[in-house]
Amino acid sequence: MIPAHSAPAQPAPTPQDGLVVPLAPTSDWRRAWRDAIRDPRELLELLDLPQVAARLSADAQAQFPMRVPRGFAMRMRRGDPADPLLRQVLPLDDEDRLVPGFDLDAVGDAAANAGTGILHKYRGRALLVATGSCAVHCRYCFRRHFPYAEQTAAANHWQAAIDFLRNDSSISELILSGGDPLSLATGKLAELTGALRGIASLRRLRLHTRLPVVLPERVDATLLDWLRTLPWPVSIVIHANHPNEIDVEVAQALRRLRETGAVLLNQSVLLRGVNDDARVLAELSEVLFDAGVLPYYLHQLDRVAGVAHFEVDDQCARALHSELQSLLPGYLVPRLVREVAGAPGKTPL
Ligand SMILES: *Cc1c(COP(=O)(O)O)cnc(C)c1O
Ligand code: SF4
Repeated sequence: MIPAHSAPAQPAPTPQDGLVVPLAPTSDWRRAWRDAIRDPRELLELLDLPQVAARLSADAQAQFPMRVPRGFAMRMRRGDPADPLLRQVLPLDDEDRLVPGFDLDAVGDAAANAGTGILHKYRGRALLVATGSCAVHCRYCFRRHFPYAEQTAAANHWQAAIDFLRNDSSISELILSGGDPLSLATGKLAELTGALRGIASLRRLRLHTRLPVVLPERVDATLLDWLRTLPWPVSIVIHANHPNEIDVEVAQALRRLRETGAVLLNQSVLLRGVNDDARVLAELSEVLFDAGVLPYYLHQLDRVAGVAHFEVDDQCARALHSELQSLLPGYLVPRLVREVAGAPGKTPL
């Protein structure tokens, strides 16, 4: 994934999609985006954890530079080196270990991307890698090894992606992913959805985004207006792993998204030392439901190089999942799945 040191410029607002995007010359979310903490030592100092600096990895930092929005860092506990939010973002020397079975392209994405920005692996659904940028860099993410170019999909006004969708009428759902699709300016997203309106076979639009959680400032009036004017049923799959990620501001942002009529779902990755505890996962489902979000998937992580220390073995994962079922109503229990290259969908464990 692209280390987002150069945030894409906000394009001039254009009337698209039947809506005039209001002028936002100094957008707050852009400022918050740029103001992210990128120096691991600065983060450790803010958290009163100077002693952890000895375990930082320069290699891990060079491969996938740390990036943490300040608001997300504020939700970490000071003085706790095992903080579950800190663990998700800090480049430690655990990542330098080479572990057999943890390779570069764990899910076969390099092969699937045909130059359009589209990944078409599952029936009826196409995933558009809308951008390579993310507001936070999650250490466990398989995209750490894929420097998707900012231009892949958005250049040429999305033409290659639009052509792909127009030529395959079996695709009824378009999934905007990345990177994080909400790292694009709303005007850019409106340009895409404006062009998609002409494709009759498209019935649903889905967004996969971590921004409402890591940078709730992104959920501004312009974004909400865009969502409200879309002609398809919309689902938004957010990505939260631990209940401490959901503070008052995030819950407010989620409620606002819900009020646009979008269906909100959450997917988590099961991570050792972060959320491998049934009570933590149960609390996550509860706080998310309070904010209008239903659980969707609990993923076994993709086995890419550098993430072995986060893995929870399948037996423990199944035991955790059964315990979760005993703690919660069925609709608050996420499906435990993993991604298997070549499978027709996510594979239940
Ligand atoms: C995960 C994924 C999807 C969506 O799968 P669902 O089970 O519908 O959530 C679609 N396309 C690709 C390439 C994916 O990796
Ligand atoms: S998990 Fe999501 S937000 Fe985090 S780096 Fe990966 S794609 Fe970006």
